[in-house]
Amino acid sequence: MPIYLLLMGGPGAGKGTQAQFLREKFGLPQVASGDLFRDNLKRQTPLGQLAKQYMDRGELVPDDVTISMIRERLQQADAKNGAMLDGFPRTIPQAEALDGLLAEFGGRVNVALYVKVPEAVLLERLSGRWTCRGPGQHTYHMLFNPPKHDKLCDVDGTELYQRPDDTPEVQSRRIRVFFEQTSPLIEFYRQRGLLSEIDGEQPIEQVTAQLVGAVEGVLAA
Ligand SMILES: [Zn+2]
Repeated sequence: MPIYLLLMGGPGAGKGTQAQFLREKFGLPQVASGDLFRDNLKRQTPLGQLAKQYMDRGELVPDDVTISMIRERLQQADAKNGAMLDGFPRTIPQAEALDGLLAEFGGRVNVALYVKVPEAVLLERLSGRWTCRGPGQHTYHMLFNPPKHDKLCDVDGTELYQRPDDTPEVQSRRIRVFFEQTSPLIEFYRQRGLLSEIDGEQPIEQVTAQLVGAVEGVLAA
């Protein structure tokens, strides 16, 4: 029976690094809904063209289009033992649709891994990034990798500035959207006994070790 893992975590929770590690460790492909969209649009597949019609009109792509993309991906040979889903589901209707899809493959969500990092910590991680105006565009983090001199690049002495996407305003909105969307989903999986919460404020290696432990627990069951 295939194994399906969900990987959940806010922006800045370090999910990308962990996903890569889990993929190598367990040989399960990472199926990220964002990547599927980009890939289908780029290859101009029928599903990509369908999705594009909605996007061109500024509408949300309906869940059944996304589900169809995931179905196609899960049918590929490298996913025969299962997959690690990332970025989907985001809502409870999507979670229910996913249950139906995985049942087609004789599987189900085996565990929902949630890398939990408080909102304030995510904001600290994401909004501390400053970039220099020099041609090298060197980047700093005001907490984790600050410049020697306030707001000046160590390398070329040019002024540091925040790119619009790096500002606290933009990042805090992004983080808030994540929590608003995801909180009901966390409850959904908690109530089904499928949630495995991992403290994402620990050092990266410890987060990895706990994720591995959670997956091994599922594999042994
Ligand atoms: Zn510089």
